Amino acid sequence: MKVLVINAGSSSLKYQLLDMDTEKVLAKGLAERIGIDGSNVSYQPAEGEKIVVEEPLKDHKDALDIIIEKLTDPKVGVIENIEEIDAVGHRTVHGGEEFAHSVLIDDAVIKTLEEVSELAPLHNPANLTGIRAMEEILPDVPQVAVFDTAFHQTMPEYAYMYALPYELYEDYHIRKYGFHGTSHHYVAIEAAKLLGKPLEDLKLITCHLGNGGSVTAVQNGKSVDTSMGFTPLAGIEMGTRSGDIDPSIVIYLQGKGYSAEEVSTILNNKSGAFGVSGISSDFRDLEDAAEKGNRRAKLALDIFDYRVRCTIGAYVAAMDGVDAIVFTGGIGENAPTTREGVCKGLSYLGLTIDPQANQVRGKNAVITTPDSKVKVLVIPTNEELMIARDTVELSEKK
Ligand code: AMP
Repeated sequence: MKVLVINAGSSSLKYQLLDMDTEKVLAKGLAERIGIDGSNVSYQPAEGEKIVVEEPLKDHKDALDIIIEKLTDPKVGVIENIEEIDAVGHRTVHGGEEFAHSVLIDDAVIKTLEEVSELAPLHNPANLTGIRAMEEILPDVPQVAVFDTAFHQTMPEYAYMYALPYELYEDYHIRKYGFHGTSHHYVAIEAAKLLGKPLEDLKLITCHLGNGGSVTAVQNGKSVDTSMGFTPLAGIEMGTRSGDIDPSIVIYLQGKGYSAEEVSTILNNKSGAFGVSGISSDFRDLEDAAEKGNRRAKLALDIFDYRVRCTIGAYVAAMDGVDAIVFTGGIGENAPTTREGVCKGLSYLGLTIDPQANQVRGKNAVITTPDSKVKVLVIPTNEELMIARDTVELSEKK
């Protein structure tokens, strides 16, 4: 069975075609600058050279037409014709409280997604554009929506409710939703395999640390708390996002003359590691600068390690213990110094990092010593595979 996985952003579209009999990627790529000058589509077959097509793309449908053309191209394609695509899986950011699991897309689902769009105005409308374009191209093929929020719908009420007037939850759906759910769920499943124990018997803390980052407490295979909240702005320090701050800062800045939009730009785009360091949001740049003695770059990294460590501590309390901590995402998979910095203050848990093992980058590994009571794992995430697996399961039920 072949599944096309689509992650549609407002001006970009990432895709992968997977053969789900082997779970291997047949081809993947990215369309960029959709609707903007200088648009292009990249196409990388599993075997063969990467191709970049530079052509104007007025919308997502234009991008998908080129992607299908390449996938079925007699020379560089990986399938003979479009009928070989058995199902399409869409990464969908916000499922609100409506979707605790992935769903087969039909008119009712689209209507609900439109309603939920208010909660994720930057993401859900873009996801819907991808869904509509694909429905036009492959009207008879099952399409599945896989939500970033779904895995966290198991959080208990006392974890997801804010201490605000209850009416704000009833009237505006203000609560913690959590994001990166597909990634947290995937690495939790992989962690159980690596530890050789059933996921249902484990207490895990999964740290998805990339440009955006979140930490999740996974007890018996279910998310019981997570650091992102009503939006992906909450929680730990991120590349350009502030993470948790005292909410009064927003009111104070507005009193100083900043508009709501300006405050939003500061918190989403000008804060985090970038805002503190004044240099970059990329941890490679920050590590280089800190090594050369840049104080603010070091401070940005120290804040990051401290915030992640404190969140882990909170989730140990939430679950009354932890069996393993998992690192994933661009930073979690590739930055030994950050992993070491986060774990430095966790020796009270009986956790000992093996400095040699911690040098690993981008592959599954246990990075604690054999006698460490709490294990620390590195597991590269694979959201596309998780989306494709759900797509297979649901489209077979159709
Ligand atoms: P992601 O959003 O998961 O793709 O993660 C992207 C981020 O991972 C980049 O902005 C970097 O901060 C970080 N990253 C990637 N490779 C490395 C590396 N070798 N060392 C440190 N950080 C890295």
